[in-house]
Amino acid sequence: MTVSIDGQRLWSSLMAMAEVGPSPNGGSHRLALTEEDAAGRRLLIGWCEAIGCTLRVDRIGNLFIRRRGKRDDLDPVATGSHLDTQPKGGRFDGVLGVLAGLEVFRTLHDQGVVTQRPLELVVWTNEEGSRFAPAMVASGTYAGVFSAESTLSRRDRDGVTLGQALEASGFAGEMPVGEPQLDAFFELHIEQGPVLEENGEAIGVVTGVQGMRWFDVTLRGQPSHAGPTPMRYRRDALAAAARLIDRLQSHAMTDASGATKVTCGTLEIDSPSRNVVPGEVHLTVDLRHVVEGELEALQALYERELAAAAEAFGVKADSERIWVSPVVEFDVGCIDALERAARAQGVSYRRMMSGAGHDAVYVSRVAPTAMIFIPCRDGVSHNEAEYASPEHCALGAQALCDALLERANLEESA
Ligand SMILES: [Zn+2]
Repeated sequence: MTVSIDGQRLWSSLMAMAEVGPSPNGGSHRLALTEEDAAGRRLLIGWCEAIGCTLRVDRIGNLFIRRRGKRDDLDPVATGSHLDTQPKGGRFDGVLGVLAGLEVFRTLHDQGVVTQRPLELVVWTNEEGSRFAPAMVASGTYAGVFSAESTLSRRDRDGVTLGQALEASGFAGEMPVGEPQLDAFFELHIEQGPVLEENGEAIGVVTGVQGMRWFDVTLRGQPSHAGPTPMRYRRDALAAAARLIDRLQSHAMTDASGATKVTCGTLEIDSPSRNVVPGEVHLTVDLRHVVEGELEALQALYERELAAAAEAFGVKADSERIWVSPVVEFDVGCIDALERAARAQGVSYRRMMSGAGHDAVYVSRVAPTAMIFIPCRDGVSHNEAEYASPEHCALGAQALCDALLERANLEESA
């Protein structure tokens, strides 16, 4: 039996949600646990309750919206994402994953389909991290990476704690964080990059998330007069930084696979002046790769290049590794289910790694997990201009529907 979602209805609900906290240029502005975010949540809950689903809210405001199965004693098969946005964010980032889940529930309701396992639509609190740092804090808490207490005491710029914001929004729930256990978790999301669009592919079956390592670097030389100081006496910290950046760029650009990514996103010169040789600079280095061993090798190369650049310009280098996020590999069973679903749509798709973090990354620590991507125009996201076509949204939702049904109807194994 084929169960076909209604792409038109999905599009209407996406557009209706976008009108909650609309931003001036056609995007959405729903920072976590603000009045706008709460209104978006209430809109969703109303839609779900109208088709007989029930809501539970955990202590950090994660919503678990259940559609009963034949065997409600079994762990649910879950899907979902987030409804909060960046300031002046887009209409699709996160929202698509939630409303596609809603569309699946509505379709099953219309067709009178009851799955073996219950289904659960999850809305994770504060995914974006723009009101309360860090990003994905609530799915991380669900997965046991952060304690509920530490999450509740995170503060926004005005000193309001996440706990206070939950109370004010009416979404301070009672369910212990970490409940319910999930049989599996599938998240549909826009790609937020250009790969699918560039290759004319409609679906990405996401097999994992690339690893990241962040460094704070200080290079210390000697400030000196730009005129009288001969080149060979200089200890130019900025020149050493430039050498390092250039070497890292060259290395990454020659990786034909495109899997090596290096970024120096900030660079500050101490007491900059046009006629002073820079004595001290601070920069950040962001290294990424899809294979943990290659990421390790990339770090070793970075350390060699840093030492060589420091040596060449007579400066002292200090590098501190401040953050590590290992390569995440999603669950093979979930990936395969999504690949079957992608193939069933008769469109071109690819297996790919995600370049960005998502709630699914944390959830994958405690439940079998995988993700689906659809293209977004020009790879643009975190921007009011973010756009995914109705056709691609529907394809993604249909693939999600197929995978959820397959998983929720699997015979229980011993
Ligand atoms: Zn997102």
